[in-house]
Order: sequence, then structure tokens, then C-alpha cells
Amino acid sequence: MSLPARLREGLRRHPLWLAMAAAGVPLAVLLGFQYRWLVELDRNSAVAWQASLDNYLAAVSEQVELAYRSRGERLLNLPPTVFEAGRRDEAARHFQAREMAGARRLFLVSFLDGAGEVWFYDPGSGSAEARPGTPEARAVAVAVAPWQALAAAGGRVERPALAVDERDPEQRVLLNPILDDRSGLVGVAGMILDEEDFRARQLGAVIDDALPRYFGEDARQYLVVTVRDGAGRTVLATADRSADLAYPAERAFSFVFTDWSIALGCHSATTPAQWARFSFFVHLGLSGLLAALVTGGVALALRTAAREVRLSRMKSDFVSNVSHELRTPLASIRVFAELLRLGRADRPEQAREYGRYIETESRRLTGLIDNLLDFARIESERKEYRFESADLLAVVAETLGSFEVRLRQQGFRLSCQTPERPLPPVRLDPAAFAQALANLLDNAVKYSGEGREIGVEVRREGDRALVAVRDRGIGIPPEEQAKIFERFHRAGSALVHEVRGSGLGLAIVRHVMEAHGGRVTVASRPGRGSTFTLELPLAAASADPAAAPARPPLAARPEVSQA
Ligand code: ADP
Repeated sequence: MSLPARLREGLRRHPLWLAMAAAGVPLAVLLGFQYRWLVELDRNSAVAWQASLDNYLAAVSEQVELAYRSRGERLLNLPPTVFEAGRRDEAARHFQAREMAGARRLFLVSFLDGAGEVWFYDPGSGSAEARPGTPEARAVAVAVAPWQALAAAGGRVERPALAVDERDPEQRVLLNPILDDRSGLVGVAGMILDEEDFRARQLGAVIDDALPRYFGEDARQYLVVTVRDGAGRTVLATADRSADLAYPAERAFSFVFTDWSIALGCHSATTPAQWARFSFFVHLGLSGLLAALVTGGVALALRTAAREVRLSRMKSDFVSNVSHELRTPLASIRVFAELLRLGRADRPEQAREYGRYIETESRRLTGLIDNLLDFARIESERKEYRFESADLLAVVAETLGSFEVRLRQQGFRLSCQTPERPLPPVRLDPAAFAQALANLLDNAVKYSGEGREIGVEVRREGDRALVAVRDRGIGIPPEEQAKIFERFHRAGSALVHEVRGSGLGLAIVRHVMEAHGGRVTVASRPGRGSTFTLELPLAAASADPAAAPARPPLAARPEVSQA
């Protein structure tokens, strides 16, 4: 058979595997996709979170730069004419007319008179004054020197721009080179930056403005902005819990205060990145749970379906097996009855023999029908036992007697061993027990194959009476031995299927024995024969097993332990 054909055949035989695969494969694919998607999402959210931190810091730095550029433009854009000799007062008026915020001091240096003296604006008197020898004057002189040299060399400045000199962190200088209309350098106007204003007003305003814009109104609950100066000292923090923070993002200011840095700190377990991670695991867990539930549900449904399929198959086998079993004794009865009717029994001895056959076969028929009726009663929980104090040996002997003809007819040798000392009377339902024993004998006959030897032994073991039925027949594989007591179950071997049976006999035996407070066990080796043993409690003989609670139907009972 080709591989696809074999595959098709396999699937036809095991449709439940197909159903399992049909449900399981898409589920596994979906889970795979979801896992990949969650991993991707987790990674992207971490990247996005880092990017938003960096963007925020860049925005703060940019706003600081913008603020100082616009202040520089506003304060330091002096007309070149004020740098001419004797016009310093005009410069003072220019400064006076403007807000000095951010500047600790304003100054100008004219390169037109050659001396290049620094004139500081005094907001008190509103006039310009020289402050030679002060640290401010020195810092300005150092910052201005390159420009002065350029002016002395008659150099031109094509694109004038604000310049910053922060070599002395105490005197941070912002300069604006002033050009005449031929791009000649006439002087510089400048300011010395006010650190206190930067720290207390500028930074605070910019940070507070950008924080909710980037991270929402509750940003302060999980984010702390910290600014450190050039020496690493914290000069500003939006919360005082900076010690236990992680700082995933930090950058230096870009224009002024360039040795200072600004950093964003996160409180652990509350950042969006951590929320993303947490939600990753929650989603993964939920998906896993869902998959487990779906798989469990599918497996349960498939198991139930499989059991139903098996049961319905067993039931249909049962119907055909039972019909056949009923037909066999009926056919025998008809043949012998016809022989009698046609007067073929010449001698009275022969007529009696035919009569015995008819009687034995009708007993067998009755036994079969009893089994069916008992099964129906057990299933509907209507089976009743009539317990009485009985002689076990007598019940066994009577049952063996009813088998005698059949055994002889089929060439069986029957041996029977009984205990030396008589057994005490046992409390039992003689009809039910006889039926159980008959079922075991019937099986011994059916499954004996060529080994036509059946042994029955009655013995006492402690407080129990045992009735063992041994055959030398086909035996039962170990894996089947527990199952054969289930209703409808018949061992799968070909040898068994040559023999007709309903699969009810042992299930009834088990029910009967349990109702008696006893049990049935099996010991068997394939090809060597089987021994079924009925165990009855002797001690229970005095008690009334009828008073025991009704036994549940066959399917609902636990396994009988085996010998
Ligand atoms: P059945 O009507 O099929 O005999 P039972 O309930 O009596 O139903 O037995 C269940 C199965 O147990 C049988 O189909 C057979 O496979 C196995 N079995 C029972 N007794 C014997 C035995 N003495 N030897 C071998 N197999 C047995």
C-alpha cells in the first residue's frame, strides 16, 4: 500500500486522531503567532519607551537653548553705532529698556577705539562702567580675545551667531558679535549667565512643561527628573527619592551649561516598560491557560466520543453475538425434537438420551436468557438477591451436574476437588451464585480450544470459601485481564472471535460476587489456560448481605483486583 493510501486508511480507522489534529494544529499555530506577536510588542514597547525618554531630554535641552538664544537676541542685538566712541550711554539705554532675566551682568566691548575695554552695564545707575580686575572682567576678556584678534586683523564675519564661553563655570559668558554693514566686526555685546535663575526658574519651568506633554499627567508618579552640575552634584530633582532610582536616559545640555546633565529616573515596577513586560507575561499566561482549557475540552470531548463509538460498536457486536448464541441451542433442540417426532428413537434408551440433550440445551438457553435479563436488571439497578443460609458444596455440585451432558458430549474431562472437612453453611443467593459459576464453566468450555480439561476446586482459606474453575485453554493476555470484567468487553484475539459470546458473563459474575461481599479474580497465561476464582466471605455468612446497600450498575463500579 502506498504511503498516502496508508495514511488515508489510518485516518479512516482513527477519526478521533484526525479530529484532535484538526483542533490542535490551528490552536498551536495561533499560539505560535500570538507568542511571536507578544515578543515583538514587548521589544517594541521597550524601544519606544527608551525613545520617549531620550526625546523628552532632547526637548528639554532644546527648549533651554531656545530660551537663551531668544534672550541673547533680545538683549544683545545692539546697533553697531553704539560702539562708536562716546555713545556708550545709548547702549546703556538699550539694556535698560529690556528685561534682564537670565543675565547676571550685561556688557559690551568695542573694537573701534582699539583699547577693547570691557564696559559693564550697571542697572542701578543705568550707566555703563568698567570693572577692571574683577573675575567677571577676566572671564569676559578671555572670551572676547579671539574676536578682538579677528577685529584687529580686519577679519570679516560672514554669519554672525551667538557664542558661549564656559571655561570659567562661575562666569559663563554668552556673546553676540556686532557687525557693521560691511560685515566688519565693531565689537561684542554679551551677558554673564545667572546660574541661580537657570537652576531655579528656567529649568523648573521647562521640565514641568514638557513632562506631562511626553508622559501624561501622572508622569511624576513614576518619573523623576534630575539635573546635575559639572561636578556631579544634584542641583535639581523633581522628587527627593533619587537614591533608589534607575536612570535609563541622560544627556548633557547642548548650548549653555554644557557641563551639566539632565537625567530621567524611574521608580521600579511602575514604568510603562515594566507594565509592558508584566502585560506580556499576563497575556502569555492567559493564552496558555486558554490553550490548556481548549485542549482539555477537546480531549475530553474526543474521549467521550471515542467511548461512545466503542460502546456502540460493542453493542452492535453484542446484538449479533447474542442472536447467534441463542440460535445454537435452539437449532439443537429443533433437531432432537424432529428426531423424536419422526420416531427415529427406536429404543427407549435413545429417546431418553434425546430428551436429555433437549433438556441440557434448554437449560443453556435459559442460562443465556437469565444472563440477559440479569444484565438488564443490574443496569437499571433493579437486581435483587435472595440470600439464605446454603450448602456451598451442594450448589456447586448441582451446577456441575447441569453441565455434565454438555461436557461429556464435547469430550471434556471434569475433575472436582472438595475440602476434606465440610464447609460451614454459607449465606448466599443460590440461584445467583449458581449462575456466576455456570458463566465461568461456560467460558471454560468455550475458550478451552484443544485442552479439554476442566478442574473445579472448592476450598477454604481462612475466613473465605473459594471456588476455582481452571481450564487449559487459550488463556488471557495480561493487559486484557482487568478489562474482561467490563460489560461487552471481549478480548481482541482471533481465537476469542472464533467463539460467540455476549461479553456480559464476567460482568455479571463480578456483580454477583460483590453483592455477596466477595470478589472474582483471574490468573491466566496465554496458551496455558486460566483460573477464575470466586471468593465468598465465611464470616459474612452470619451477617445479612441483603442488608448491604444496593450495588450500582456494572459500568459504574471499580475494577476487581486480580489474583
Ligand atoms: P463472553 O460472552 O464473550 O464469553 P464474558 O464476559 O464471559 O463474555 O467474557 C469476557 C471475555 O473474557 C471473553 O470474550 C474472553 O475473551 C475472555 N474470557 C473469559 N473467560 C475466559 C477463559 N476461560 N479463557 C480465556 N478467555 C476467557
